[in-house]
Parts: sequence; structure tokens; C-alpha cells
Amino acid sequence: MAPSANGHSGSEKFNFDTFRNVINGKLVDGEKTRAGINPATKKANAQVPVATEKDLDNAVDAAKAAFKTWSRTTIEERKKAVSAYSAALKEQREGFAALLTKEQGKPLPFAQAEADSGVYWLDENVKLELPETVEEETDERKVITRYTPIGVAAAIVPWNFPIQLAIGKIAAALLTGNCLIVKPSPFTPYCGLKLVELAQSFFPPGVLQVLSGDDNLGPWITSHPGIDKISFTGSTATGKRVMESASKTLKRVTLELGGKDPAIVCKSVNIKDAAPKLATLCFMNSGQICIAIKRVYIHESIYNEFRDAMVDHVKTIKVGDGTEEGVFLGPIQNSMQYERVQGFFDDIEKQGQKVAVGGKTADSAGFFINPTIIDNPAADSRIVLEEPFGPILPIMPWSDEEEVIEKANSTLMGLGSSVWSSDLEEATRIARRIDSGSVWVNTHLEVDPKFAFGGHKESGIGSEWGLAGWKAYCNTQVLYLKK
Ligand code: NAD
Repeated sequence: MAPSANGHSGSEKFNFDTFRNVINGKLVDGEKTRAGINPATKKANAQVPVATEKDLDNAVDAAKAAFKTWSRTTIEERKKAVSAYSAALKEQREGFAALLTKEQGKPLPFAQAEADSGVYWLDENVKLELPETVEEETDERKVITRYTPIGVAAAIVPWNFPIQLAIGKIAAALLTGNCLIVKPSPFTPYCGLKLVELAQSFFPPGVLQVLSGDDNLGPWITSHPGIDKISFTGSTATGKRVMESASKTLKRVTLELGGKDPAIVCKSVNIKDAAPKLATLCFMNSGQICIAIKRVYIHESIYNEFRDAMVDHVKTIKVGDGTEEGVFLGPIQNSMQYERVQGFFDDIEKQGQKVAVGGKTADSAGFFINPTIIDNPAADSRIVLEEPFGPILPIMPWSDEEEVIEKANSTLMGLGSSVWSSDLEEATRIARRIDSGSVWVNTHLEVDPKFAFGGHKESGIGSEWGLAGWKAYCNTQVLYLKK
């Protein structure tokens, strides 16, 4: 018999050494196993199961059975369970952070912050309310709008924020009364498996399950007739495949996809404050953030000074193994992504573009790449048009407001953007004209579980987080009660 995943409270010893799928409340070994790679050492991490189609069928059956009762629990009961889960996650913060650094590569303080963000996302979701609303009440009738859970949902998670992005989906799906099957990225399966294992003490079997698999698992999920909703975070190319596959059974989809975020720096900006801040935000997580700044337009009157201030800051950034003290940027997460980023360097070399700081990094023990700024590349070059998802940043001068807004809006992406200025009126005027799901003034990357997050254009469909995120896991139902 498979060992039960239940029975350990958050305070008991929770191990971070063995990794199994969780199906119907049980820890399940795989017929086959595989391993992720620690990107700082290129050495294999522990074995994880490779889920089969049968495992998926079993998980869907368990979720369907669990949905019958879970969907009828009260919101108070569900909030109580999620709060208890959050407390357990808080207790296991150090274990999750160490595991995250080992599988994803990010420096330990950032891994700790990501574990903390998991707790915060759960806690803030517990505070949200999505009550029924009485739309009309007359002598003849009462009309009520309510939100009902969709059914069995699947969370497809990428490798850049394995904890935060999984938890965002778990919180919204479970609190709205859905059952959820989590599929972590094959590059970073470890934290996802453990997050769901930890949850088993707080939710009935089948409510929250996890399957780690190979590249077959995603397409099996998106085409499975028993799954009603897909919440996908990943690249735009994969998002299109997910939507195509999901359309065959009319599954609901939320797609959180790629970005090519512009930052517009106005001439009134405080250069000393803004340049290091902006440079930091561009390179966080080694540029592997959907909403990282991926193009900077600097007003021509301050271009040289701002560039030099950014370069000075970038020179202070330490790259290395995330377990080492003082490291700010870890490695690129996997070899495929590392090669992709190298391709941008090859193109930059071929085009003879000017490297202000950084440049090609010599091969080493891990997938390390030094943060790099490209000084005013051609508008039609790859680094300006595509998402490298690595620490290379193009910066370009601008002079005319209309023109820079047009440039900012000129890609198919519309995830995030920012405007940097000491003149709030100017910044807000520009911000309102940018076509992206989030627009920041004098900052970037600030996200919040209370507010909707999503992309315009090919950066996505629908939103996650906040009440918009809850509604994405619900059907809308209108009750017409004739008196
Ligand atoms: P990816 O699209 O390669 O993979 C994402 C997930 O989809 C993984 O779990 C993968 O196994 C799975 N998958 C792959 N092929 C599939 C298929 N055919 N059907 C179903 N699932 C499939 O993305 P990635 O490389 O892991 O992540 C990087 C990308 O994600 C970047 O483009 C980044 O901008 C984007 N991203 C977006 C957000 C957002 O919220 N908008 C957040 C993080 C990352």
C-alpha cells in the first residue's frame, strides 16, 4: 500500500529528501524516475517520479470524487484549512528555501523571500471575499449573482518561481471550492511536490494533488476530458499550444505568458536614485522574470549619465552559487535556457553591438551569465524585439513622448511596463497610454495577491490573483427568484 501523505502536522519533521507524487491523499512512487539539475553545479538533484497517463487518470478520478464534497464546504471551512496550511508552510520556510536554491538556482535570501511570499499569498487570499450579490429586489422577483466552482482544475507552473506561482494557483482554486492538480516544471519539480505533500494534512484526499512528469504530461493534462480548467503560466508559444488543446473540450483557460516589459525614463528623473534601482530590477532572478524590465528607453538629454550610473551599479553585482554569501544573481536555471541566452550574445557579437557592461561569460561549473547592458542596439535587433529571459538588457535613447509610447507599445507583448520620472503628472500621463496589464511609476515588479495580474495582447488571457483571480476559477450563476 502506498504511504499516506496525511498525518504529519506542520510542526513534525517534514523531510526534504524524498519526492513522490500525491494522488488521492497518498504518496505515489513513479514506475520511472528522473532528476532535475542543480544549475549552480550542473549536478543531478534527487530522483522524482515520472507520472504516467494512468497516474493522471487516477488523479482526475480522485479530484472529481473530492469535488462533490469540497465544492459544498463553506468558505469559512476552506479559509480555515488554507490558514492552517499557510502556518505549516511558514514553519517549513527554511527547508523550502534551501530546496528552491538547489533546484532553481536563486540566491538563498531570494529563495527565503519566495517561501515567505507563498505564506503571504495564502494569508492575503484568506482575507478576500466573493459574496453573492443581490442585483435586484422587487415585489415580483429577486435576482442574485453567485460564483460557483468550475470543478477539476490543473495548474501548469514554470521554473522561474516554482513556489510563488504554484501557491497563487492553489490559493485561488481551493478557496473557491475547486480541486486542483499541480504540474510543476520538469526543470523544477521539487518544491511543487513538497508543497502539495505538506498540504495533505489540511485538505481531504483528492482536493490538492501533484504530478511530476516529463514533457508528455502537459499535453495529457490539457487534452484530458475530466479536467475543466487550466491555469497556465509559461511562455507564449506554449500558451498557444495549451489553448489549442484545451479548446477541444472547451476547458476554461487562464494564460499568464511572456513579456517584453519597457521602462521609460524621463528627463526629470533623479538619476542617482533611479539608475541603481532600475538596474537591480532588470537583473533580479538573472532576468528570468516574466515582468522583468527587458527594454529601457532613456531620455536623450540624460542618456549617457543614466547609462553610466546603471553600469556602475551593475559592476557591483555578484554572480555565483546561490548558497554563497553576498551573491545577488544565481545561474540561469537550465541548459536549454542558458543556450538560448548564449544565442543572444552570438547575435550581439555578429551585429557588432556595443556592450556597456558584461558580455559573454566563460563556461564554468554552473550556468552563470554576467549581467550585461547593450548600449543603443538597432531597433530591429533580436535583443530589442525578443524576450531573452536572461540577464541581458538593451537601453536606447528617446526624445519625443509620442514616439516613445509607440515604441513601448510596439511589441506583441503587454505584460508590464514602467515610467520613471520626478514629475508624477507626466509619468501618469504616459503610464495610462501603455498597453500592458501592470504599469508602475518609479518602480517595477511590485505585485500583490490582492490585485489582478495578467497580460494584454500575447502576454496572456485573463488574470490571476485578487478577486479577478478567484473569478477565473468560477462559473457565474444568476438566480432569478420569482416571488
Ligand atoms: P514553458 O512554456 O516552457 O513551460 C511552462 C510549463 O508548461 C512547464 O510546466 C512545462 O512543462 C509545461 N508545458 C510545456 N509544453 C507544454 C504543452 N504542450 N502543454 C502543456 N504544458 C506544457 O515556460 P518556461 O520556460 O517554464 O517559463 C518561462 C516563460 O514563462 C517565459 O516566457 C516567461 O515570461 C513566462 N512566464 C510568465 C509569467 C506570467 O505570469 N505571465 C510568469 C512566469 C513566467
